[in-house]
Amino acid sequence: MSALLEVSGVTKTFDGFRAIDDLSFSVNEPELRAIIGPNGAGKTTFMDLVTGKIRPDAGTICYGDLSRDLTKMSEAQIARAGIGRKFQKPTVFEDQTVEENLTMALAAPRAPFAVLFRRTDARVAARGAAARVGLEDRMQTPAGVLSHGQKQWLEIGMLLAQEPRLLLVDEPAAGMTSAERERTTEMLVEAAKTRAVVVIEHDMEFVRRLNCRVTVLHEGHALAEGSLDHVCADPRVIDVYLGR
Ligand code: ADP
Repeated sequence: MSALLEVSGVTKTFDGFRAIDDLSFSVNEPELRAIIGPNGAGKTTFMDLVTGKIRPDAGTICYGDLSRDLTKMSEAQIARAGIGRKFQKPTVFEDQTVEENLTMALAAPRAPFAVLFRRTDARVAARGAAARVGLEDRMQTPAGVLSHGQKQWLEIGMLLAQEPRLLLVDEPAAGMTSAERERTTEMLVEAAKTRAVVVIEHDMEFVRRLNCRVTVLHEGHALAEGSLDHVCADPRVIDVYLGR
């Protein structure tokens, strides 16, 4: 296990307001990590910085063998380097079947096997991707009729099909039933056995189930880090959450 992502002294200011303030922390490969923090803590800005959507004012974000600084790369280069991002709302192609959605993901330029598949190979690969997210018996179902939870899984499957080294996932459990949350936990834990998975999450019960290292973000910097029990016992974290 070694560092895959190393954020050092990153600051991002919007109109003089420091959304990310001298943030430093690192993520290993493989690792499952949760980032928690109150609204406005800077979680979304952090994801935007890592994926190259926005640029920091200061600091470095080193990746891979840590010789590459993501702050100097374009969004497309970062995606091709193996960083996948799942937004909170599922963005699948609703009129296309599960199989078609997965086949498209497998053929995307950043997928490692982005070759012109023979039809049968594409089918086999799509089925494999579906099995990772429990949708193998839904291959011919249009994505639009899947449940909210299944759409989220399909999108996770589409991202996993591209074999990212680092997967950033924004509130995957939002709007899910308890059973769906349980399966989502299993998927993320499984995915994180071979890659880095960073989950931004508000739901503490879900974070508890992930059973991973947690970083608490507050006012744009890492306030505490460790197991959920450890960070929840930290008086500074209690202050932030209970406003004492
Ligand atoms: P979180 O995702 O933890 O809720 P955000 O990263 O969305 O927090 O926001 C952190 C802070 O930065 C908030 O105070 C937000 O209003 C501010 N912010 C984020 N993006 C912008 C922007 N494009 N322009 C101005 N302020 C922004």
